[in-house]
Amino acid sequence: MKPEVELYDTTLRDGSQGEGINFSVMDKLRIAEKIDAFGIHYIEGGWPGSNPKDIEFFAEAKRKKFKHARLAAFGSTRRKGVPVENDDQVRLLLDANTPVVTIYGKTWLLHVTEVLRATPDENLAMIADTIRFLKDHNKFVIYDAEHAFDGYKDDPEYGLATWQAAEKAGADFVVLCDTNGGSLSTEIGKITAVASKKLNIKVGIHTHNDTGLGVANALAAIEAGATHVQGTINGYGERTGNCNLTSVIPNIALKMKKRCLPDSSMSKLKELSQFVDEIANIRHDPRQPWVGEAAFAHKGGTHVNAVQKVVRSYEHIDPASIGNTRRVLISDLAGRSNIVMKAHELGFKISNDTPELKEILTRIKQLEHEGYEFEAAEGSLALVIRKILKHQEPPFKIEGYHVSMRRDRAISVCQASVKVQVDGITEHTIAEGDGPVNALDQALRAALVKFYPSLKKVQLTDYKVRILDSAGGTGARTRVLIESTDGKNEWGTVGVHDNIIEASLQALVDSIEYALMRK
Ligand SMILES: [Zn+2]
Repeated sequence: MKPEVELYDTTLRDGSQGEGINFSVMDKLRIAEKIDAFGIHYIEGGWPGSNPKDIEFFAEAKRKKFKHARLAAFGSTRRKGVPVENDDQVRLLLDANTPVVTIYGKTWLLHVTEVLRATPDENLAMIADTIRFLKDHNKFVIYDAEHAFDGYKDDPEYGLATWQAAEKAGADFVVLCDTNGGSLSTEIGKITAVASKKLNIKVGIHTHNDTGLGVANALAAIEAGATHVQGTINGYGERTGNCNLTSVIPNIALKMKKRCLPDSSMSKLKELSQFVDEIANIRHDPRQPWVGEAAFAHKGGTHVNAVQKVVRSYEHIDPASIGNTRRVLISDLAGRSNIVMKAHELGFKISNDTPELKEILTRIKQLEHEGYEFEAAEGSLALVIRKILKHQEPPFKIEGYHVSMRRDRAISVCQASVKVQVDGITEHTIAEGDGPVNALDQALRAALVKFYPSLKKVQLTDYKVRILDSAGGTGARTRVLIESTDGKNEWGTVGVHDNIIEASLQALVDSIEYALMRK
């Protein structure tokens, strides 16, 4: 089925220019495979003329078979005064051996005369020569018109002449780029409409997010006739980033109702977004539109009550359609409905008239008042609910512990000993670690694994500390959030105390108790 709007991913090129983003060749290959499986039509792998890592990427990528995507190498028009066949940077584009080559060239006279120091005609020749040369080598050529909007606003006649030069030389697409990211959606719409009318080839759009309009501007261009959109997963890119594909895709497919992806792909959007963040070693942004953890989270009591009755009442779309899930947040604002929904999510059978509900609610509010927060600590929350519902003894009890730290020349050593009791048997263990919490974790685990071998799989993955009352300095209360995994599921637990070690131990104990409760 032919798409109405084609998707072009530049995470590996424009996206990798973002601050804090650094992909290895292996990272790039894994991302390319994932994006291909998702169904995106073009993957821009890099700029072979700008760095050796990208040359290596294309050498490796040659061996891969992509199912949906066509690989593109990125470069620029030939240099001023150099015949195209002698331009090394253009040669490297052929060497990349990709079916698609994307080159950028100048629309804006300011850049032609002041930056390139070329004449307007020479710039037109640079565009035409390069495209013709690539077409002669059987490439599918996408022409990125750099500063297309700023250039057109400055001199419409010359701007149009550069795009027409690309068309005449045989480009398959002209992509209008808002390189500085400063245009308004109305301007983007108007200028894209002119290009769509005056050119006989397809028009694409490439936007940046400098004014927070990256996605909106791409949509404005599509409304005005563009049929190809360029962007990056999670909006990575220079400065404030590129058009975020993770937002623009569901807007095109679910709001504008234009075909752009295979039907089965849309529900994998959140997974794709998380995957790319994980490879880039960036924490997934909970407030990211569509795919963030908070995108369908309900906190206010009246919202939750309404969502329980009619899901549509406070949600713009079914979260499952893009692979996200509805979440109900627990907080001071929460009424009974929140607890009931959250308890259901955690596997408890509970309803609005369960007698223990009031006690659970009171207990949660009291703990929140003391500084606990359960939004990311569903493990601890489940234990609070269970304690009240089931009146069960915990699977183990800590009878005592000791933590010490010493410095031996340059090396600091932490040691912890823990005394735990399981079914009347007391176990005493000692362990070392790189920090007091790590040592405590090791000692506790060593003691419990004898009774509960399944704990071998449980691992601590993240540890976050927040000081609750900063005015109190070191005497303030400390909240510790611990994230754990058993290889399949992740969960969070929380501890609060004046003493950071005590707060950490609470969260550790909850993490292990929750792991035992789930199995
Ligand atoms: Zn760009």
